[in-house]
Amino acid sequence: TLTTEHARAWADRFVTVGAERNDELTELDRQAGDGDYGTNLRSALRRAAANLTGEPTSPHEVFLAVSEAFLNTGGTSGPLFGMWFREFAKAAKGREVTAVVLGEAATNAVAVVQRLGKAEVGHKTMVDAMVPAAEALSAAAARGATVPDALAEAASAAHVGAASTKRLLAKRGRASYVGEHARGVVDPGALTVAYFFDAATPSSS
Ligand code: ADP
Ligand code: MG
Ligand code: MG
Repeated sequence: TLTTEHARAWADRFVTVGAERNDELTELDRQAGDGDYGTNLRSALRRAAANLTGEPTSPHEVFLAVSEAFLNTGGTSGPLFGMWFREFAKAAKGREVTAVVLGEAATNAVAVVQRLGKAEVGHKTMVDAMVPAAEALSAAAARGATVPDALAEAASAAHVGAASTKRLLAKRGRASYVGEHARGVVDPGALTVAYFFDAATPSSS
């Protein structure tokens, strides 16, 4: 199961990696959008870090702290990530967070994002990483994988999904306004999903 300590460390590492990757993510949004992605992410992660100093006592409270930080952020990505994290918080409420619970949470979460944003896989958005991550989590859970193993598999799948956005034309969001100029540029929202799942695993460095 996902312990509170693991959930906290995961969220803390997400805040750190989000800051480390901020320039890279901004550059992607500059090439295929309006260039504010990093600014939006930075303000969400600052708020998340502030919320996390409240010493959450359960994985539910950790996910809620992150969700509320994103829900209060501008841009298209803020509210969509906020609603995505909210499903993890809901799924974790009052119960042990097993790999099965995480798989269900990720499945429900991407469904909410898709309902709000009307994006399918292949539209070059965060959904392109969220769907394979949810599938990988559910498949790992069905095999009886541990939470750390299931999350590591989700990270790999999310990276493959994010990389797949590079060759695509965007069908949603601002990147869809620039047509062919977006081809060759990885979607920053999808890459952020991959970094989020990476953060579940302590890095060796
Ligand atoms: P804005 O385009 O309003 O400046 P951001 O820069 O904060 O928004 O976020 C852009 C990201 O939002 C994209 O990289 C993409 O992943 C995601 N996105 C945009 N539109 C949608 C949508 N309709 N559905 C899902 N994700 C979307
Ligand atoms: Mg933008
Ligand atoms: Mg914008």
